[in-house]
Amino acid sequence: MIYDVIIVGGNIAGLWLGHLLNRSDLKVLVLERNKSVLDTFLGALFYTEKESKEYNIEKFILNKTRKVEIRFIDSNCKEYSRVFVRDDKENPIIMLDEHKLKLDLLDELKKSSNVDIKLNSLVTIITEKRNRVEVELKNKTKYSGKVIVGADGCNSIVAKIFNFPEIKICNAYRYILENCDIDSNNNLFYINLKQLGIGYAWLYPRSKTTCNFGIGSIDRVKGMTKYLMKLKANLPGLKNSKIKNLNGGQLPVSYRRNIVKGRVMLLGNAAGQINPLIGGGVKTTMDAAAIIADVLKKSKKQEFDLNLLKEYEKKYFNSDFGKDIIKTCERVSIVLKLNTHPWFADVGEKFIKFGNYEIRTWSLGKKGNVLKFVIRHLILSLKLLWIYLRTRNKKI
Ligand SMILES: Cc1cc2nc3c(=O)[nH]c(=O)nc-3n(C[C@H](O)[C@H](O)[C@H](O)COP(=O)(O)OP(=O)(O)OC[C@H]3O[C@@H](n4cnc5c(N)ncnc54)[C@H](O)[C@@H]3O)c2cc1C
Repeated sequence: MIYDVIIVGGNIAGLWLGHLLNRSDLKVLVLERNKSVLDTFLGALFYTEKESKEYNIEKFILNKTRKVEIRFIDSNCKEYSRVFVRDDKENPIIMLDEHKLKLDLLDELKKSSNVDIKLNSLVTIITEKRNRVEVELKNKTKYSGKVIVGADGCNSIVAKIFNFPEIKICNAYRYILENCDIDSNNNLFYINLKQLGIGYAWLYPRSKTTCNFGIGSIDRVKGMTKYLMKLKANLPGLKNSKIKNLNGGQLPVSYRRNIVKGRVMLLGNAAGQINPLIGGGVKTTMDAAAIIADVLKKSKKQEFDLNLLKEYEKKYFNSDFGKDIIKTCERVSIVLKLNTHPWFADVGEKFIKFGNYEIRTWSLGKKGNVLKFVIRHLILSLKLLWIYLRTRNKKI
């Protein structure tokens, strides 16, 4: 049997695309290497209640929060400055119950007559044949499909085999803490540029007594969990908390310039569809899956017209969320370049961006230094100026 679409990867990207294609006339196969979809990471924040209604996932809401606050801290975890980013009662941010959502999607796909889902199925080889793609699992089982979607994370085997452009990756860790005494309305970000570089620790309340407490950095690797534990010990609301669960994973911090090649498409982390500063990839992955689902349904009518499949790439790069990801990735790469220069060691602070809000301090040091920098790195400076001019209205 030849499937219309084979999706490699059964975390949120694969499950959500499977869900969107269920009840279409496409025959779909989802292959996930793990025995369970629950032990892979999700955790969705920066997703507003209004958006959750559009996706019909309100029943998975765990907590609603109206505030976002950034706290700048020193290496002893003492706060020295604070910025309120958001306080919006009308449109709260939601925390999803990732387990319930994934269980529900899995259950739906298991019952579906159009979508087959196979767990414990590690894809090891993919070969392109005439008008189809053949996928081989570790146990040598083979499946054929007319189109293949790589939803297999930032180390995507699909992207590697089909020579998609490389992507930069960083690590992040998340604890679920119990026994906390926190404001269940307030999402907190802790920034310490010297220790965490372009990154931060976060506290997202799941309730008054439980929270997601995590850490991630683009340009630092060592000592992250140690610093997080120091922060936990220093925050009054967390002093008596207990670790219920630790999860970690990798995030893309750059995007792929190509996400469609012939009958191969990339989605979610595999495509770099995640905002590297906010770390939020669930909503953007769902948005991108909606574009793929539309394009697949349309192009199927013409036996998968490869030109129509390319529409996914065009639509994604022209979408507001796609543009936002690219813009943020560009900034991150500029900040990383600048940070290697002693005059600009704290430049990361100028580009911190949360959703539509930006925090800029512009403490560039002595004017003479800036002038020297501009003369030496004229193209980079013009690029920075261009980015600044394009985004200056969003400054807070
Ligand atoms: C610590 C941390 C905290 C985060 N917090 C948030 C948050 O609060 N909000 C938010 O929106 N986002 C958050 N994210 C990001 C979010 O987890 C990702 O953007 C999202 O999971 C992307 O999903 P995905 O399905 O594309 O990729 P992944 O989650 O990477 O899933 C890829 C799937 O493919 C499978 N796979 C890989 N290779 C193969 C193979 N060869 N064969 C078969 N299967 C394979 C894997 O087992 C996995 O299930 C966080 C990420 C991390 C690491």
